Amino acid sequence: QAKNAGRNQFQAYDKLSASKQNRKLDLVKQLHHAINNNEISLVYQPVVKLSDGRIVGSEALLRWTNENNEIIGPDEFIPIAEHSGQIINIGNWVIQQACQQCKIWREAGAVNHAMAINVSSYQLKDPKFSKRLSDILTALSLPAECIHIEITENIAITEDQVCVATLHELAELGTRLLLDDFGTGYSCLSYLKDLPFNVLKIDRSFMPANNTIASTIIAMGHELNMEIIAEGIETQSCYEFLKNLNCQYGQGSLFQKPVPPSEFDIFKQFRFHSEKTNLK
Ligand code: C2E
Ligand code: MG
Ligand code: MG
Ligand code: MG
Repeated sequence: QAKNAGRNQFQAYDKLSASKQNRKLDLVKQLHHAINNNEISLVYQPVVKLSDGRIVGSEALLRWTNENNEIIGPDEFIPIAEHSGQIINIGNWVIQQACQQCKIWREAGAVNHAMAINVSSYQLKDPKFSKRLSDILTALSLPAECIHIEITENIAITEDQVCVATLHELAELGTRLLLDDFGTGYSCLSYLKDLPFNVLKIDRSFMPANNTIASTIIAMGHELNMEIIAEGIETQSCYEFLKNLNCQYGQGSLFQKPVPPSEFDIFKQFRFHSEKTNLK
């Protein structure tokens, strides 16, 4: 009896993993056409200076609407594209597109607008990565400092000599390096000592205000002379909490969710009435 139950459970699990596997294979097939069919696009989320509510830049985030009009989030398809190798083509497209958008906004008057681009560790394994980025910047006559490369902490980076070399080349070129989702994954502090990161991005999972982890990461970042960006700011109390800790920058739905370029107002300034104004 117990044996049978066990076997049934195992079969159920097997079916589930088989259907997951089929879904992955489907997505890999569909991803092949995604770029040429114009199915992928970038949305942009403002990065806000917390002290004055001004937009200092934006983060480019991928969106994919496949041929069945299904919207597939990057958290699902990026790992698949990394596994299949398609991340290289997609990643190149993202960089080209985001750099062009940055140029458009700087020429429209947001002269210091910075563009944050998420880059997978698989892309950093290409020894020509920094050369290709540098060629794009030259072609667009964009200064390297306005490009912020976001890398999620990942053990693969420190263990791969080419990745480490690429990071140093990018720093040499003058792009800024941001350590994304800090505190969620591998969190090895030797990253901060050995690799040329300029900015820590605190993961949104630490965001409910008054969180000790968020304040500890901010204090540590200050000690290390790194700038801090908080992601996932959804409430005014969270914003004020972070501002009071001198966290310099933030992103989140309190300001704006990611939007297509046509809906992005580069000159917007976010203002909030202090919650304390009602107090005598
Ligand atoms: P990430 O780089 O940490 O991006 C932040 C995520 O938080 C985004 O999810 C953003 O839409 C979401 N977010 C922003 N503000 C809020 C908020 O106030 N509340 C909540 N609940 N969420 C907020 P998204 O766009 O789904 O992207 C997920 C992840 O996919 C990104 O995390 C990044 O790791 C990856 N990704 C996105 N675009 C690219 C890309 O072009 N290349 C690579 N390699 N990865 C990308
Ligand atoms: Mg990011
Ligand atoms: Mg992040
Ligand atoms: Mg994240």
